[in-house]
Amino acid sequence: MENSKLTSTNLMELEDKYGAHNYHPLPVVLEKGEGVFVWDVNGKKYYDFLSSYSAVNQGHCHPKIIHTLMEQAQKLTLTSRAFYNSQLGRYEEFVTRYFGYDKVLPMNTGAEAVETAIKLCRKWSYEKKGLPDNSAQIVVCENNFHGRTTTIISFSVDPEASNHYGPFTPGFIVIPYNDADALEKVLVENKNVAGFLVEPIQGEAGAYVPADGYLKKCFDLCQKHQVLFIADEVQTGIARTGKLLACDYEEVKPDILILGKALSGGVYPVSAVLSRNDIMEVIKPGQHGSTFGGNPIAASVAISALEVVRDENLAENAMRLGKTFRAEMQSLCKESKIASFVRGKGLLNALVINDGGHKDLAWDICVSLLENGLLAKPTHSNIIRFAPPLVITEQQLYECIAIIKTTIREFE
Ligand SMILES: *Cc1c(COP(=O)(O)O)cnc(C)c1O
Repeated sequence: MENSKLTSTNLMELEDKYGAHNYHPLPVVLEKGEGVFVWDVNGKKYYDFLSSYSAVNQGHCHPKIIHTLMEQAQKLTLTSRAFYNSQLGRYEEFVTRYFGYDKVLPMNTGAEAVETAIKLCRKWSYEKKGLPDNSAQIVVCENNFHGRTTTIISFSVDPEASNHYGPFTPGFIVIPYNDADALEKVLVENKNVAGFLVEPIQGEAGAYVPADGYLKKCFDLCQKHQVLFIADEVQTGIARTGKLLACDYEEVKPDILILGKALSGGVYPVSAVLSRNDIMEVIKPGQHGSTFGGNPIAASVAISALEVVRDENLAENAMRLGKTFRAEMQSLCKESKIASFVRGKGLLNALVINDGGHKDLAWDICVSLLENGLLAKPTHSNIIRFAPPLVITEQQLYECIAIIKTTIREFE
């Protein structure tokens, strides 16, 4: 079928008919993006307040990142790690200095990087900490989201994510989030704990921010018990929360740091596991790998994407505009029966909707937002996440605040 002749209805029908139904998208078909904007196939323009789950922090089709992608794509795309390539070493030096780590292990998707961190942590626990083989436990938190592989969903508490995908991978202990005492209890009682895997802010759970000091307390407990503190900053990292990393708020430096999403500016699947020499050295040639991990396009694109974050002061912008956004939403919540409260950090925020038993309300609000020119998606049934690209200007943000307020008022 000739692409130009297809309407948005046709295109949605194609996805519905030929694609697996593992997503439930909002009814909009996008074909173009630039900065904070995306356009649908009819030419209607929208503010993107999802940013592909915080992968396009640098804005859609950032010219500098796209330039790097195109240049590298015409030169060399993939070598596999059977050979060296001219971009990987440059990237590895750049990314380790940028985040202050000794070494990086390059992967592609966030879930792969989480898997890599789990493998690294387990191997370290046997070869360095001296745990008996196959005994290692990794402590994780309730309402976590770390990706979709079989091992990762083995410790999800969301039945939607895990139902009928068993048998599951053992070796995980689930404790409540935002509860350092619960972590302490496990560490005191169980001598086989190798690591604590945590999101500094729970993104998919609805921008759930833990109490101040939680991360630092957990980090100190991990140190005391010789347990690796593993931060999944796939969604919170790369300036999204107003600092380069969400862990920076508490001056916590994770033993293992997991990055993805905005590491490429949403241009290419690039993820990374960063750590110290004494941890990373347990993985030797042949013991872990990825055909595409560290390929020359990924490596060069990631350098550009991180340069944009630094050169355009995206963390500072997220910090400043995040405060404005939450203040405006708080004033909306005061006068609204539907908007109940707002939470978040930087430009990772969520508005909690008081649905009064009408469980489609958040979805319906998102459909109206779409009609009014702003794209956002509910997470769970009654939470709307608002996470625009970090290149948004103050004036644009105020325009979006007006759209959100008008839309919510339509439902009062
Ligand atoms: C999105 C996400 C992942 C998974 O990343 P994929 O690239 O979708 O595999 C892992 N952890 C967190 C915190 C995420 O938000």
